[in-house]
Amino acid sequence: MSEIKLVLEEPKGRKKAPEHFADWSADTRRAKIQELGLPAFRANQIANHYFVHHDDDPESWSDFPASARQLVRDQILPRLLTPVRSIACDNGKTRKDLWRLHDGVLVESVLMRYSDRTTVCISSQAGCGMNCPFCATGQAGLTRNLSAGEITAQVVAAARTCESGELPGGATRLSNVVFMGMGEPLANYNAVMQSIRNIVSPQPEGLGIGARSVTLSTVGLVTGIEKLCEEGIPVTLAVSLHTPDDELRDTLVPINSRWKVKEVLTAADRYADQTGRRYSIEYALIRDINDQQWRADLLGRLLKNRNAHVNLIPLNPTPGSKWTASRREDEREFVKTLEGYGVPVTVRDTRGREIDGACGQFAAGETLRTDRSDN
Ligand code: SAH
Repeated sequence: MSEIKLVLEEPKGRKKAPEHFADWSADTRRAKIQELGLPAFRANQIANHYFVHHDDDPESWSDFPASARQLVRDQILPRLLTPVRSIACDNGKTRKDLWRLHDGVLVESVLMRYSDRTTVCISSQAGCGMNCPFCATGQAGLTRNLSAGEITAQVVAAARTCESGELPGGATRLSNVVFMGMGEPLANYNAVMQSIRNIVSPQPEGLGIGARSVTLSTVGLVTGIEKLCEEGIPVTLAVSLHTPDDELRDTLVPINSRWKVKEVLTAADRYADQTGRRYSIEYALIRDINDQQWRADLLGRLLKNRNAHVNLIPLNPTPGSKWTASRREDEREFVKTLEGYGVPVTVRDTRGREIDGACGQFAAGETLRTDRSDN
């Protein structure tokens, strides 16, 4: 087996994103505005434009002094995401956006419209240092953390798309946010927390999306889950378990060499106690690797008295991988076994497969290469 390479710290030498309104607390926003010689109340106007109307172009703000617009554009609301391209599938109900950041780095987000909700799946890092062998993002390693502004801007862009009426079904509101794109959110803790505050704070301080409609998915960084317990923001926690036994999990989710299955579940239990929220267990079913009945049985026994729900994800094979999704009959048996233990279980649909926008398919470098060869 190749040596497991885990990266918890951000590589040095990367230039940080320009500072942005969404990086700051309400107090700092007012202070920064005053530093520019503007009255503090202008911060509320900016918040209103950005978080309520999803408008980040000061030139279009008729209630804002023309002389201050350029200053705000440069110092407060620099453009953080440049669209590279969007591709759609599922009759337009799934749309992947590829963004270029200030330093040329690429990240992706995916917007999915369902009958009862519209969800954006966002990236918290460019690349990922967790090195899970079945995940496309992990293969390229970690490039850098995203800033709170860069994370928030993906959500604001999605909200704008929803309202524009571009998605089939007409104009709608963005209702859910999942941190299931590129990156390990708890390895970029402070920026992710600030972006969550931006998402859940009532308008106009934030986007006003309920904490319950925000899902943070993690490989299981126990210290991060413990910190999250103290935040008092009851987002939905999802733990990427993928197998109930440490032996296999050491390979599938290499951070398991640091925090074992039981420790991760104990931390998630504490989160559930603290927030009153049931957590999710993510489990990508990989044919003949983690889909055996004995593993379903072990998982059922582990979870039967816990406040957890299992989300089974048919593996989305990544290019060059020897692994593939489980047989339908094995998937069905796995579900039945868990249900036998009274463990709630759902099989996730795999939106966005043909645009490489589905789970674990986020590898922006790949996409850019495809882009270029298209020309
Ligand atoms: N780093 C976080 C969030 C990113 S991925 C985490 O690991 O939870 C979101 C989910 O997609 C995780 O559960 C991840 O394990 C899963 N995933 C990654 N690659 C996948 C693939 N090829 N097929 C199915 N699910 C995958």
